[in-house]
Amino acid sequence: MAKLELKNLNKTYSKTVIPINDVSISVNDDEFLTLLGPSGCGKSTALRLIAGLEPPTHGHIYIGDRDVTHLKPGDRNVSMVFQSYALYPHMTVYENMSSSLKLRNFEEEEIKKRVAESQKLLDLSDDLLNRKPGQLSGGQRQRVALGRALVRQPDVFLLDEPLSNLDALLRERVRADIKQLFEQQKAPVVYVTHDQVEAMTLSTKVAVLYEGKLQQLDPPQRLYQTPANRFVASFVGSPQMNLLELPCDNHRAKLGALELPLPEGLSTPDKIVVGIRPEHVRLPREGDEFTLEGRVFLVENLGMQNLLSVRVKGSENQSESGITLRALLSADEDWGGEDVTLALPGDLLHWFDLETGDRLRQ
Ligand code: ADP
Ligand code: MG
Repeated sequence: MAKLELKNLNKTYSKTVIPINDVSISVNDDEFLTLLGPSGCGKSTALRLIAGLEPPTHGHIYIGDRDVTHLKPGDRNVSMVFQSYALYPHMTVYENMSSSLKLRNFEEEEIKKRVAESQKLLDLSDDLLNRKPGQLSGGQRQRVALGRALVRQPDVFLLDEPLSNLDALLRERVRADIKQLFEQQKAPVVYVTHDQVEAMTLSTKVAVLYEGKLQQLDPPQRLYQTPANRFVASFVGSPQMNLLELPCDNHRAKLGALELPLPEGLSTPDKIVVGIRPEHVRLPREGDEFTLEGRVFLVENLGMQNLLSVRVKGSENQSESGITLRALLSADEDWGGEDVTLALPGDLLHWFDLETGDRLRQ
């Protein structure tokens, strides 16, 4: 079936507001793409361009081999699901789900069949079909909104932060439902969120957007393992990656008394950014090459784990109050009081250029 393609897409509102700046992405019909980025980075703008609710300033949008860039929304065969559900309050659930098909003059039989199919996929009871949106819970409303998108059998599904209005518990459940549901659909999905957990759990690939630019386009695991720059490194992963600005000398970065050899093939800058995820910092084992001493000044108990904030010894002159390293340790582990020795696995360090933020080799 159809593939969605964005080619050099640009949306310029003014000299300083360019939420989409030369973005090219393609999404196959078996792919679930998430646009991930902080609030205001241009995610909803991208969806509006794909849906045809606004024209791009430059660039093209293709669905299959159709150039839809200048087609009206109704001629694109695209379904959109919004955070606010956007259901008609005076219509029943059945009417809400079937209204777009009615508008398109589908036969009553076909409409019934499609609604019944979606009803089954979404596990909606018969009784619920006769209710009005006001008589539904938030989770049920979002299911109906999904159902309305499904019955269209569109060429592309667009979802704009569909879980944001649900409470935490429900969000997890509907998230799992969405994953199952769209695995069965043969159409590209573009899902927008600022929540990296949603992006990681749902997507086959993630586009990280920031300041209008595509920062990285990769499967979730790769985003986590090999962030392309400092922004992606800080935005993906929880708790956040430690990003330490360290002075360099003689092809080594200095962290307190510890000297970390720079990746091979790199010249020595004055300063470099070293990234290490809190879950990769651990208590030392025999043979560990990189260990450091620190003082624990904060412990956050997360249930299964403790998140330790540690001031690195000997780093007092490296920044105003010394360098802080956060370490995620199993709650069973005993780090033995205020003083702690921690190990950094050398193969899990990330290196970034201080000026550009770009990832350096390794
Ligand atoms: P996101 O969905 O990622 O939170 P949006 O796509 O809604 O971000 O907005 C991106 C940027 O574009 C924001 O700075 C927003 O203020 C601006 N913007 C959105 N729509 C318009 C518009 N119609 N006119 C001018 N600026 C807009
Ligand atoms: Mg938005």
